[in-house]
Amino acid sequence: MQKKAPKFIFVVGGVISGVGKGVTTSSIGKILQARGLNVTAIKVDPYVNVDAGTMNPTEHGEVFVLSDGDETDQDMGNYERFLDTTLTRTNYMTTGRVYQRVIERERNLEYKGRCVEVVPHIPLEIIRRIEKSAHDAQADVTLVEIGGTIGEYQNILFLEAARMMKNKHPEDVAFVMVSYLPTPNKVGEMKTKPTQYAARTLNSAGIQPDMIIARSETPIDARRREKIAIFCNINPDRVISAPDVDSIYDIPVNFEKGKVAEKLIDELSLEKRANKTDLNQWKRFIRKTKSTEGEVNIAIIGKYFNTGDFVLSDAYISVIEAIKYSAYAVGKKPVLHWLNASDFEDAKKLRKLAKYDGILVPGGFGERGIEGKINVIKYARLNKIPYFGLCYGMQLLVVEYARNVLGVKDANTVEIDPGTSEPVIDIMPDQKKKLQEKDYGGTMRLGSYPAVLKRGTIARTAYKSDEINERHRHRYEVNPEYIARLEEAGLVFSGTSPNNVLMEIAELPEKEHPFFVGTQFHPEFQARPLAPHPLFTAFTKAAAQRRSKAKKK
Ligand code: GLN
Repeated sequence: MQKKAPKFIFVVGGVISGVGKGVTTSSIGKILQARGLNVTAIKVDPYVNVDAGTMNPTEHGEVFVLSDGDETDQDMGNYERFLDTTLTRTNYMTTGRVYQRVIERERNLEYKGRCVEVVPHIPLEIIRRIEKSAHDAQADVTLVEIGGTIGEYQNILFLEAARMMKNKHPEDVAFVMVSYLPTPNKVGEMKTKPTQYAARTLNSAGIQPDMIIARSETPIDARRREKIAIFCNINPDRVISAPDVDSIYDIPVNFEKGKVAEKLIDELSLEKRANKTDLNQWKRFIRKTKSTEGEVNIAIIGKYFNTGDFVLSDAYISVIEAIKYSAYAVGKKPVLHWLNASDFEDAKKLRKLAKYDGILVPGGFGERGIEGKINVIKYARLNKIPYFGLCYGMQLLVVEYARNVLGVKDANTVEIDPGTSEPVIDIMPDQKKKLQEKDYGGTMRLGSYPAVLKRGTIARTAYKSDEINERHRHRYEVNPEYIARLEEAGLVFSGTSPNNVLMEIAELPEKEHPFFVGTQFHPEFQARPLAPHPLFTAFTKAAAQRRSKAKKK
Protein backbone atom coordinates (compact mmCIF):
# COMPACT_ATOMS: atom_id res chain seq x y z
CA MET A 1 0.00 0.00 0.00
CA GLN A 2 1.13 3.52 -0.73
CA LYS A 3 1.55 5.43 2.51
CA LYS A 4 0.39 8.77 1.16
CA ALA A 5 -2.52 9.48 -1.17
CA PRO A 6 -1.34 9.36 -4.78
CA LYS A 7 -2.03 12.55 -6.71
CA PHE A 8 -3.02 12.81 -10.37
CA ILE A 9 -2.66 15.58 -12.91
CA PHE A 10 -4.60 15.16 -16.13
CA VAL A 11 -3.26 17.08 -19.09
CA VAL A 12 -5.81 17.72 -21.83
CA GLY A 13 -5.55 19.58 -25.11
CA GLY A 14 -7.81 22.45 -26.13
CA VAL A 15 -8.33 23.90 -29.62
CA ILE A 16 -5.72 22.06 -31.71
CA SER A 17 -3.20 19.28 -31.31
CA GLY A 18 0.50 19.48 -32.09
CA VAL A 19 1.20 22.45 -29.85
CA GLY A 20 3.38 20.55 -27.43
CA LYS A 21 1.10 18.74 -25.00
CA GLY A 22 3.64 15.93 -24.62
CA VAL A 23 6.50 18.29 -23.91
CA THR A 24 4.28 20.27 -21.53
CA THR A 25 3.45 17.09 -19.64
CA SER A 26 7.13 16.10 -19.53
CA SER A 27 8.14 19.58 -18.35
CA ILE A 28 5.54 19.66 -15.57
CA GLY A 29 6.86 16.26 -14.52
CA LYS A 30 10.42 17.57 -14.56
CA ILE A 31 9.77 20.57 -12.29
CA LEU A 32 7.75 18.48 -9.83
CA GLN A 33 10.53 15.90 -9.82
CA ALA A 34 13.00 18.71 -9.11
CA ARG A 35 10.99 19.31 -5.92
CA GLY A 36 11.88 15.84 -4.69
CA LEU A 37 8.54 14.32 -5.67
CA ASN A 38 8.38 10.88 -7.22
CA VAL A 39 6.74 11.43 -10.61
CA THR A 40 5.50 9.06 -13.28
CA ALA A 41 3.61 9.74 -16.50
CA ILE A 42 0.96 7.92 -18.51
CA LYS A 43 0.11 8.46 -22.17
CA VAL A 44 -3.42 7.78 -23.29
CA ASP A 45 -3.88 7.33 -27.03
CA PRO A 46 -7.52 7.33 -28.07
CA TYR A 47 -7.11 5.11 -31.15
CA VAL A 48 -8.34 1.52 -31.38
CA ASN A 49 -4.89 0.07 -32.18
CA VAL A 50 -3.69 -2.00 -29.25
CA ASP A 51 -0.25 -0.44 -29.53
CA ALA A 52 1.64 1.91 -31.84
CA GLY A 53 3.70 -0.91 -33.39
CA THR A 54 1.49 -1.41 -36.42
CA MET A 55 1.32 2.27 -37.37
CA ASN A 56 3.30 4.01 -40.08
CA PRO A 57 5.93 6.23 -38.44
CA THR A 58 6.07 8.73 -41.29
CA GLU A 59 2.40 9.46 -40.61
CA HIS A 60 2.15 8.93 -36.87
CA GLY A 61 5.66 9.59 -35.63
CA GLU A 62 8.20 7.24 -34.15
CA VAL A 63 7.27 3.99 -32.45
CA PHE A 64 9.00 4.28 -29.09
CA VAL A 65 9.99 0.91 -27.59
CA LEU A 66 10.04 0.51 -23.82
CA SER A 67 12.45 -1.81 -22.10
CA ASP A 68 9.63 -4.26 -21.39
CA GLY A 69 9.00 -4.40 -25.14
CA ASP A 70 5.86 -2.28 -25.37
CA GLU A 71 5.57 -0.42 -28.68
CA THR A 72 4.30 3.02 -27.77
CA ASP A 73 3.86 6.61 -28.79
CA GLN A 74 6.79 8.99 -29.18
CA ASP A 75 5.59 11.02 -26.20
CA MET A 76 6.71 8.15 -23.99
CA GLY A 77 10.23 8.92 -25.21
CA ASN A 78 9.83 12.52 -24.11
CA TYR A 79 8.72 11.42 -20.66
CA GLU A 80 11.67 9.05 -20.30
CA ARG A 81 14.13 11.66 -21.52
CA PHE A 82 12.83 14.54 -19.40
CA LEU A 83 12.25 12.48 -16.28
CA ASP A 84 15.37 10.34 -16.81
CA THR A 85 13.33 7.29 -15.89
CA THR A 86 12.33 3.93 -17.34
CA LEU A 87 8.61 3.47 -17.92
CA THR A 88 6.64 0.27 -18.40
CA ARG A 89 3.61 -0.89 -20.34
CA THR A 90 1.34 0.22 -17.48
CA ASN A 91 2.30 3.78 -18.45
CA TYR A 92 0.71 3.43 -21.87
CA MET A 93 -2.92 2.94 -22.80
CA THR A 94 -5.06 2.96 -25.93
CA THR A 95 -8.79 2.55 -26.46
CA GLY A 96 -8.02 -0.80 -28.07
CA ARG A 97 -6.04 -1.98 -25.08
CA VAL A 98 -8.77 -0.96 -22.63
CA TYR A 99 -11.55 -2.64 -24.61
CA GLN A 100 -9.47 -5.75 -25.18
CA ARG A 101 -9.03 -6.20 -21.43
CA VAL A 102 -12.70 -5.55 -20.61
CA ILE A 103 -13.80 -8.07 -23.25
CA GLU A 104 -11.26 -10.61 -21.98
CA ARG A 105 -12.56 -10.20 -18.45
CA GLU A 106 -16.14 -10.55 -19.62
CA ARG A 107 -15.24 -13.82 -21.39
CA ASN A 108 -13.60 -15.04 -18.19
CA LEU A 109 -16.81 -14.38 -16.24
CA GLU A 110 -15.02 -11.80 -14.15
CA TYR A 111 -18.09 -9.52 -14.25
CA LYS A 112 -20.07 -12.33 -12.61
CA GLY A 113 -23.11 -12.31 -14.85
CA ARG A 114 -23.61 -8.56 -14.96
CA CYS A 115 -24.34 -6.66 -18.15
CA VAL A 116 -21.03 -5.11 -19.19
CA GLU A 117 -21.55 -1.61 -20.50
CA VAL A 118 -19.44 1.10 -22.09
CA VAL A 119 -20.22 3.28 -19.07
CA PRO A 120 -19.16 2.60 -16.36
CA HIS A 121 -17.06 -0.45 -17.23
CA ILE A 122 -14.73 1.20 -19.72
CA PRO A 123 -13.94 4.23 -17.49
CA LEU A 124 -13.55 1.87 -14.53
CA GLU A 125 -10.96 -0.15 -16.42
CA ILE A 126 -9.19 3.11 -17.35
CA ILE A 127 -9.15 4.16 -13.68
CA ARG A 128 -7.88 0.74 -12.63
CA ARG A 129 -4.98 1.10 -15.06
CA ILE A 130 -4.12 4.64 -13.98
CA GLU A 131 -4.16 3.67 -10.31
CA LYS A 132 -2.08 0.55 -10.95
CA SER A 133 0.55 2.58 -12.75
CA ALA A 134 0.71 5.10 -9.87
CA HIS A 135 0.96 2.26 -7.39
CA ASP A 136 3.64 0.33 -9.31
CA ALA A 137 5.78 3.46 -9.56
CA GLN A 138 5.06 4.43 -5.93
CA ALA A 139 4.47 7.85 -7.42
CA ASP A 140 3.57 10.96 -5.46
CA VAL A 141 2.28 12.45 -8.67
CA THR A 142 1.07 10.66 -11.80
CA LEU A 143 0.68 12.77 -14.92
CA VAL A 144 -1.92 11.48 -17.36
CA GLU A 145 -1.77 12.98 -20.83
CA ILE A 146 -4.97 12.42 -22.75
CA GLY A 147 -4.28 12.34 -26.48
CA GLY A 148 -6.30 14.34 -28.97
CA THR A 149 -8.25 17.50 -28.17
CA ILE A 150 -11.31 18.31 -26.12
CA GLY A 151 -14.61 17.87 -27.90
CA GLU A 152 -13.51 14.89 -29.93
CA TYR A 153 -15.65 11.81 -29.84
CA GLN A 154 -12.59 9.62 -29.40
CA ASN A 155 -11.30 10.57 -25.98
CA ILE A 156 -14.60 11.13 -24.19
CA LEU A 157 -14.40 7.92 -22.13
CA PHE A 158 -10.98 8.91 -20.85
CA LEU A 159 -12.35 12.31 -19.80
CA GLU A 160 -15.21 10.48 -18.13
CA ALA A 161 -12.70 8.37 -16.17
CA ALA A 162 -10.86 11.54 -15.14
CA ARG A 163 -14.12 13.16 -14.03
CA MET A 164 -14.99 10.10 -11.96
CA MET A 165 -11.58 10.18 -10.28
CA LYS A 166 -11.94 13.87 -9.43
CA ASN A 167 -15.44 13.22 -8.08
CA LYS A 168 -14.15 10.48 -5.79
CA HIS A 169 -10.96 12.23 -4.64
CA PRO A 170 -11.45 15.95 -5.28
CA GLU A 171 -8.29 16.94 -3.41
CA ASP A 172 -6.07 14.45 -5.26
CA VAL A 173 -6.86 15.27 -8.88
CA ALA A 174 -6.00 18.40 -10.90
CA PHE A 175 -6.64 19.34 -14.53
CA VAL A 176 -4.27 21.22 -16.79
CA MET A 177 -5.56 22.37 -20.16
CA VAL A 178 -2.97 23.10 -22.84
CA SER A 179 -4.59 25.53 -25.23
CA TYR A 180 -3.53 27.47 -28.28
CA LEU A 181 -3.99 31.20 -28.78
CA PRO A 182 -3.72 32.03 -32.45
CA THR A 183 -2.65 35.43 -33.75
CA PRO A 184 -4.24 35.51 -37.23
CA ASN A 185 -2.09 37.45 -39.67
CA LYS A 186 -4.84 39.71 -40.93
CA VAL A 187 -6.19 40.45 -37.47
CA GLY A 188 -2.82 41.02 -35.89
CA GLU A 189 -3.92 40.28 -32.34
CA MET A 190 -3.95 37.21 -30.18
CA LYS A 191 -7.34 35.52 -29.88
CA THR A 192 -8.68 33.90 -26.72
CA LYS A 193 -12.06 32.77 -28.08
CA PRO A 194 -11.01 29.22 -29.13
CA THR A 195 -9.63 28.70 -25.61
CA GLN A 196 -12.90 29.92 -24.11
CA TYR A 197 -14.82 27.41 -26.20
CA ALA A 198 -12.42 24.65 -25.27
CA ALA A 199 -12.89 25.36 -21.55
CA ARG A 200 -16.66 25.28 -21.99
CA THR A 201 -16.51 22.01 -23.87
CA LEU A 202 -14.40 20.61 -21.06
CA ASN A 203 -16.98 21.93 -18.58
CA SER A 204 -19.68 20.06 -20.47
CA ALA A 205 -17.75 16.85 -19.79
CA GLY A 206 -18.01 17.78 -16.10
CA ILE A 207 -14.42 19.02 -15.81
CA GLN A 208 -13.09 22.42 -14.76
CA PRO A 209 -9.45 23.17 -15.60
CA ASP A 210 -7.30 24.20 -12.63
CA MET A 211 -4.57 25.61 -14.83
CA ILE A 212 -4.41 26.74 -18.44
CA ILE A 213 -1.12 26.61 -20.32
CA ALA A 214 -1.53 29.30 -22.95
CA ARG A 215 0.54 28.27 -25.97
CA SER A 216 1.14 31.05 -28.43
CA GLU A 217 3.79 32.57 -30.64
CA THR A 218 4.50 35.42 -28.23
CA PRO A 219 3.87 35.78 -24.47
CA ILE A 220 0.30 36.58 -23.50
CA ASP A 221 -0.41 40.07 -22.18
CA ALA A 222 -2.38 41.13 -19.09
CA ARG A 223 -5.55 41.73 -21.06
CA ARG A 224 -5.57 38.22 -22.59
CA ARG A 225 -4.77 36.67 -19.21
CA GLU A 226 -7.72 38.52 -17.67
CA LYS A 227 -10.05 37.45 -20.46
CA ILE A 228 -9.09 33.78 -20.19
CA ALA A 229 -9.49 33.97 -16.42
CA ILE A 230 -12.98 35.44 -16.58
CA PHE A 231 -14.36 33.32 -19.39
CA CYS A 232 -12.74 30.07 -18.34
CA ASN A 233 -13.64 30.52 -14.70
CA ILE A 234 -10.08 30.41 -13.42
CA ASN A 235 -7.75 32.58 -11.33
CA PRO A 236 -5.54 34.83 -13.56
CA ASP A 237 -2.38 33.49 -11.93
CA ARG A 238 -3.37 29.98 -13.02
CA VAL A 239 -3.05 31.07 -16.64
CA ILE A 240 0.52 30.27 -17.67
CA SER A 241 2.10 32.02 -20.60
CA ALA A 242 3.95 29.48 -22.77
CA PRO A 243 5.29 31.21 -25.89
CA ASP A 244 7.21 29.33 -28.61
CA VAL A 245 10.79 28.46 -27.65
CA ASP A 246 13.91 27.59 -29.62
CA SER A 247 14.53 24.46 -27.59
CA ILE A 248 12.03 22.24 -25.81
CA TYR A 249 14.57 21.86 -23.00
CA ASP A 250 13.99 25.48 -21.98
CA ILE A 251 10.36 24.77 -21.10
CA PRO A 252 10.87 23.41 -17.56
CA VAL A 253 12.94 26.52 -16.79
CA ASN A 254 10.22 28.77 -18.23
CA PHE A 255 7.61 26.93 -16.17
CA GLU A 256 9.72 27.62 -13.09
CA LYS A 257 9.50 31.31 -13.89
CA GLY A 258 5.72 30.95 -14.12
CA LYS A 259 5.71 29.17 -10.73
CA VAL A 260 3.86 26.23 -12.27
CA ALA A 261 5.18 23.73 -9.72
CA GLU A 262 4.21 25.88 -6.70
CA LYS A 263 0.72 26.32 -8.07
CA LEU A 264 0.19 22.61 -8.70
CA ILE A 265 1.70 21.72 -5.34
CA ASP A 266 -0.76 24.14 -3.77
CA GLU A 267 -3.67 22.72 -5.76
CA LEU A 268 -2.86 19.16 -4.68
CA SER A 269 -1.76 20.08 -1.11
CA LEU A 270 1.66 18.55 -1.68
CA GLU A 271 3.60 21.15 0.37
CA LYS A 272 4.65 18.65 3.02
CA ARG A 273 6.10 16.19 0.52
CA ALA A 274 7.88 18.74 -1.69
CA ASN A 275 11.08 20.64 -1.01
CA LYS A 276 13.02 23.36 -2.74
CA THR A 277 13.74 23.11 -6.40
CA ASP A 278 16.87 21.51 -7.76
CA LEU A 279 17.01 22.03 -11.50
CA ASN A 280 20.77 22.56 -11.51
CA GLN A 281 21.71 19.51 -13.55
CA TRP A 282 19.08 20.40 -16.10
CA LYS A 283 20.30 23.98 -16.30
CA ARG A 284 23.86 22.74 -16.75
CA PHE A 285 22.65 20.67 -19.72
CA ILE A 286 20.92 23.72 -21.22
CA ARG A 287 24.12 25.75 -20.83
CA LYS A 288 25.98 23.05 -22.75
CA THR A 289 23.47 23.26 -25.61
CA LYS A 290 24.18 26.97 -25.83
CA SER A 291 27.95 26.99 -25.51
CA THR A 292 29.07 24.77 -28.40
CA GLU A 293 32.19 25.54 -30.41
CA GLY A 294 31.95 24.45 -34.02
CA GLU A 295 29.61 22.01 -35.71
CA VAL A 296 29.37 18.35 -36.36
CA ASN A 297 27.56 17.53 -39.61
CA ILE A 298 25.77 14.20 -39.67
CA ALA A 299 24.07 12.76 -42.76
CA ILE A 300 21.09 10.53 -42.05
CA ILE A 301 20.33 8.21 -44.94
CA GLY A 302 16.74 7.07 -45.32
CA LYS A 303 13.71 6.82 -47.50
CA TYR A 304 12.13 10.21 -47.38
CA PHE A 305 9.72 10.44 -50.29
CA ASN A 306 6.71 12.69 -49.83
CA THR A 307 7.60 13.62 -46.29
CA GLY A 308 8.43 17.12 -45.19
CA ASP A 309 11.04 17.91 -42.57
CA PHE A 310 8.37 18.27 -39.95
CA VAL A 311 7.16 14.71 -40.30
CA LEU A 312 10.70 13.43 -40.56
CA SER A 313 11.71 14.90 -37.27
CA ASP A 314 8.77 13.10 -35.67
CA ALA A 315 9.58 9.75 -37.24
CA TYR A 316 13.19 9.82 -36.04
CA ILE A 317 12.86 11.87 -32.87
CA SER A 318 14.85 9.53 -30.60
CA VAL A 319 17.72 9.30 -33.11
CA ILE A 320 17.79 13.09 -33.47
CA GLU A 321 17.75 13.67 -29.73
CA ALA A 322 20.42 11.02 -29.14
CA ILE A 323 22.74 12.73 -31.66
CA LYS A 324 22.06 16.10 -30.03
CA TYR A 325 22.90 14.98 -26.48
CA SER A 326 26.15 13.42 -27.60
CA ALA A 327 27.10 16.37 -29.79
CA TYR A 328 26.58 18.70 -26.82
CA ALA A 329 28.58 16.32 -24.65
CA VAL A 330 31.55 16.75 -27.01
CA GLY A 331 30.94 20.51 -27.23
CA LYS A 332 29.67 20.62 -30.83
CA LYS A 333 26.55 21.98 -32.44
CA PRO A 334 24.72 19.11 -34.18
CA VAL A 335 23.70 19.79 -37.79
CA LEU A 336 21.63 17.03 -39.38
CA HIS A 337 21.22 16.42 -43.11
CA TRP A 338 18.49 14.14 -44.44
CA LEU A 339 19.63 12.33 -47.58
CA ASN A 340 17.56 10.03 -49.71
CA ALA A 341 19.06 6.56 -50.05
CA SER A 342 17.81 6.14 -53.61
CA ASP A 343 19.97 9.09 -54.72
CA PHE A 344 23.02 6.93 -54.07
CA GLU A 345 22.02 4.02 -56.25
CA ASP A 346 24.04 5.95 -58.81
CA ALA A 347 27.61 5.45 -57.55
CA LYS A 348 28.75 8.72 -59.15
CA LYS A 349 26.75 10.65 -56.57
CA LEU A 350 28.61 9.10 -53.65
CA ARG A 351 31.29 11.78 -53.74
CA LYS A 352 28.70 14.16 -52.28
CA LEU A 353 29.10 12.29 -49.02
CA ALA A 354 32.71 13.35 -48.49
CA LYS A 355 31.72 16.64 -46.93
CA TYR A 356 29.91 15.08 -43.98
CA ASP A 357 31.61 14.35 -40.69
CA GLY A 358 29.56 11.26 -39.99
CA ILE A 359 26.94 9.06 -41.68
CA LEU A 360 24.09 7.26 -39.96
CA VAL A 361 21.62 4.70 -41.33
CA PRO A 362 18.65 4.39 -38.94
CA GLY A 363 16.14 1.54 -38.54
CA GLY A 364 13.82 0.63 -41.36
CA PHE A 365 11.51 -2.03 -42.70
CA GLY A 366 11.39 -3.79 -46.04
CA GLU A 367 12.64 -0.88 -48.05
CA ARG A 368 13.42 -1.66 -51.65
CA GLY A 369 15.96 1.16 -51.84
CA ILE A 370 18.61 -0.76 -49.92
CA GLU A 371 21.15 -0.72 -52.76
CA GLY A 372 21.62 3.02 -52.23
CA LYS A 373 22.19 2.46 -48.53
CA ILE A 374 24.66 -0.35 -49.19
CA ASN A 375 26.59 1.92 -51.57
CA VAL A 376 26.70 4.60 -48.88
CA ILE A 377 27.98 2.15 -46.28
CA LYS A 378 30.69 0.92 -48.64
CA TYR A 379 31.72 4.51 -49.35
CA ALA A 380 31.88 5.30 -45.62
CA ARG A 381 33.98 2.18 -45.03
CA LEU A 382 36.45 2.82 -47.84
CA ASN A 383 36.78 6.54 -47.15
CA LYS A 384 36.97 6.15 -43.39
CA ILE A 385 33.98 8.37 -42.70
CA PRO A 386 32.52 7.55 -39.26
CA TYR A 387 29.52 5.32 -39.84
CA PHE A 388 26.82 4.32 -37.37
CA GLY A 389 24.15 1.78 -38.38
CA LEU A 390 21.09 1.27 -36.21
CA CYS A 391 19.25 -2.04 -36.56
CA TYR A 392 18.54 -2.06 -40.33
CA GLY A 393 21.69 0.04 -40.66
CA MET A 394 23.64 -2.75 -38.91
CA GLN A 395 22.09 -5.52 -41.00
CA LEU A 396 23.02 -3.66 -44.19
CA LEU A 397 26.53 -3.09 -42.88
CA VAL A 398 26.87 -6.87 -42.61
CA VAL A 399 25.41 -7.40 -46.11
CA GLU A 400 27.84 -4.81 -47.50
CA TYR A 401 30.80 -6.47 -45.80
CA ALA A 402 29.74 -9.92 -46.99
CA ARG A 403 29.42 -8.72 -50.57
CA ASN A 404 32.44 -6.49 -50.90
CA VAL A 405 35.01 -7.88 -48.49
CA LEU A 406 34.08 -11.53 -48.04
CA GLY A 407 33.24 -11.72 -51.74
CA VAL A 408 29.78 -13.25 -51.40
CA LYS A 409 28.40 -11.24 -54.30
CA ASP A 410 24.75 -12.25 -53.83
CA ALA A 411 24.63 -11.63 -50.09
CA ASN A 412 21.30 -10.17 -49.04
CA THR A 413 18.71 -9.96 -46.32
CA VAL A 414 15.75 -12.29 -46.76
CA GLU A 415 13.50 -9.37 -45.82
CA ILE A 416 14.21 -7.95 -49.29
CA ASP A 417 14.81 -11.18 -51.20
CA PRO A 418 13.12 -14.14 -49.51
CA GLY A 419 14.63 -16.51 -52.09
CA THR A 420 18.22 -15.25 -51.88
CA SER A 421 20.89 -17.91 -52.23
CA GLU A 422 23.07 -16.06 -49.66
CA PRO A 423 20.85 -15.14 -46.69
CA VAL A 424 23.43 -13.30 -44.60
CA ILE A 425 20.61 -11.63 -42.71
CA ASP A 426 17.97 -14.26 -42.04
CA ILE A 427 14.70 -14.68 -40.24
CA MET A 428 14.69 -16.71 -37.04
CA PRO A 429 12.46 -19.83 -37.15
CA ASP A 430 10.00 -18.56 -34.50
CA GLN A 431 9.62 -15.29 -36.39
CA LYS A 432 9.01 -17.14 -39.65
CA LYS A 433 6.08 -18.95 -38.09
CA LYS A 434 4.57 -15.69 -36.89
CA LEU A 435 4.75 -14.16 -40.35
CA GLN A 436 3.18 -17.25 -41.93
CA GLU A 437 0.31 -16.99 -39.47
CA LYS A 438 0.00 -13.24 -40.14
CA ASP A 439 0.63 -12.69 -36.44
CA TYR A 440 2.21 -9.26 -36.84
CA GLY A 441 1.19 -7.11 -33.85
CA GLY A 442 3.71 -6.95 -31.01
CA THR A 443 5.54 -10.09 -32.16
CA MET A 444 8.96 -8.81 -33.18
CA ARG A 445 11.98 -9.32 -30.96
CA LEU A 446 11.05 -6.44 -28.69
CA GLY A 447 12.43 -4.67 -25.67
CA SER A 448 15.53 -4.97 -23.58
CA TYR A 449 18.00 -7.85 -23.96
CA PRO A 450 21.47 -8.26 -22.48
CA ALA A 451 24.60 -8.40 -24.59
CA VAL A 452 28.18 -9.19 -23.62
CA LEU A 453 30.99 -7.08 -25.05
CA LYS A 454 34.40 -8.10 -26.33
CA ARG A 455 37.39 -6.48 -24.70
CA GLY A 456 39.48 -4.10 -26.76
CA THR A 457 36.66 -3.10 -29.09
CA ILE A 458 35.14 0.34 -29.80
CA ALA A 459 31.92 -0.80 -28.16
CA ARG A 460 33.59 -2.07 -24.98
CA THR A 461 35.68 1.10 -24.68
CA ALA A 462 32.60 3.30 -25.15
CA TYR A 463 30.35 1.47 -22.70
CA LYS A 464 33.11 0.86 -20.13
CA SER A 465 31.25 -2.32 -19.18
CA ASP A 466 31.33 -6.04 -20.03
CA GLU A 467 27.59 -6.43 -20.16
CA ILE A 468 24.90 -4.05 -21.40
CA ASN A 469 21.14 -4.00 -21.88
CA GLU A 470 19.64 -2.44 -24.97
CA ARG A 471 16.20 -2.26 -26.61
CA HIS A 472 15.32 -4.20 -29.73
CA ARG A 473 12.66 -4.12 -32.44
CA HIS A 474 13.31 -6.44 -35.36
CA ARG A 475 12.54 -9.83 -36.90
CA TYR A 476 15.78 -10.55 -38.73
CA GLU A 477 19.25 -11.43 -37.43
CA VAL A 478 22.77 -12.10 -38.65
CA ASN A 479 22.68 -15.67 -39.98
CA PRO A 480 24.90 -17.88 -37.73
CA GLU A 481 26.10 -19.77 -40.83
CA TYR A 482 28.11 -16.75 -41.98
CA ILE A 483 29.55 -15.53 -38.68
CA ALA A 484 32.88 -17.40 -38.77
CA ARG A 485 33.58 -16.34 -42.35
CA LEU A 486 32.69 -12.71 -41.68
CA GLU A 487 35.03 -12.73 -38.70
CA GLU A 488 37.82 -14.26 -40.73
CA ALA A 489 37.32 -11.48 -43.24
CA GLY A 490 37.92 -8.94 -40.47
CA LEU A 491 34.48 -7.98 -39.17
CA VAL A 492 34.34 -7.96 -35.37
CA PHE A 493 31.17 -8.92 -33.54
CA SER A 494 31.93 -6.89 -30.45
CA GLY A 495 28.57 -7.50 -28.78
CA THR A 496 26.68 -10.79 -28.72
CA SER A 497 23.82 -12.35 -26.80
CA PRO A 498 25.20 -14.02 -23.65
CA ASN A 499 24.84 -17.45 -25.30
CA ASN A 500 26.84 -16.14 -28.28
CA VAL A 501 24.09 -16.99 -30.80
CA LEU A 502 22.82 -13.52 -31.73
CA MET A 503 25.18 -10.87 -33.08
CA GLU A 504 24.27 -7.55 -31.44
CA ILE A 505 27.12 -5.23 -32.48
CA ALA A 506 29.35 -5.37 -35.56
CA GLU A 507 32.38 -3.14 -35.99
CA LEU A 508 35.75 -2.73 -37.64
CA PRO A 509 38.85 -2.44 -35.42
CA GLU A 510 39.70 1.16 -34.61
CA LYS A 511 43.10 0.89 -36.26
CA GLU A 512 41.37 0.19 -39.57
CA HIS A 513 38.54 2.68 -39.40
CA PRO A 514 37.86 5.54 -36.95
CA PHE A 515 34.26 4.39 -36.34
CA PHE A 516 32.43 1.75 -38.37
CA VAL A 517 29.84 0.34 -36.02
CA GLY A 518 26.37 -1.17 -36.35
CA THR A 519 24.00 -2.25 -33.59
CA GLN A 520 21.22 -4.80 -33.96
CA PHE A 521 19.41 -2.92 -31.17
CA HIS A 522 18.21 0.67 -31.02
CA PRO A 523 20.58 2.59 -28.72
CA GLU A 524 18.64 5.81 -29.34
CA PHE A 525 15.83 4.71 -27.03
CA GLN A 526 18.09 4.94 -24.00
CA ALA A 527 19.83 8.25 -24.73
CA ARG A 528 18.93 10.90 -22.19
CA PRO A 529 19.82 14.61 -21.96
CA LEU A 530 21.50 14.03 -18.62
CA ALA A 531 23.00 10.70 -19.73
CA PRO A 532 24.05 10.79 -23.40
CA HIS A 533 24.41 7.35 -25.00
CA PRO A 534 28.04 6.12 -25.00
CA LEU A 535 27.94 4.80 -28.58
CA PHE A 536 26.39 8.00 -29.94
CA THR A 537 29.06 9.93 -28.05
CA ALA A 538 31.85 7.78 -29.53
CA PHE A 539 30.32 8.31 -32.98
CA THR A 540 30.00 12.10 -32.67
CA LYS A 541 33.48 12.30 -31.20
CA ALA A 542 34.88 10.44 -34.23
CA ALA A 543 32.86 12.72 -36.50
CA ALA A 544 34.17 15.83 -34.74
CA GLN A 545 37.74 14.53 -35.11
CA ARG A 546 37.26 14.00 -38.83
CA ARG A 547 36.08 17.59 -39.10
CA SER A 548 39.00 19.06 -37.21
CA LYS A 549 41.46 16.98 -39.27
CA ALA A 550 39.83 18.18 -42.50
CA LYS A 551 40.17 21.77 -41.33
CA LYS A 552 43.88 21.40 -40.63
CA LYS A 553 44.55 20.13 -44.14
N1 GLN B 1 13.61 -4.60 -40.82
C1 GLN B 1 14.61 -5.12 -39.97
C2 GLN B 1 14.11 -6.25 -39.11
O1 GLN B 1 12.94 -6.41 -38.91
C3 GLN B 1 15.21 -4.02 -39.11
C4 GLN B 1 14.24 -3.43 -38.15
C5 GLN B 1 14.65 -2.09 -37.63
O2 GLN B 1 15.49 -1.43 -38.22
N2 GLN B 1 14.04 -1.67 -36.56
O3 GLN B 1 14.90 -7.03 -38.59
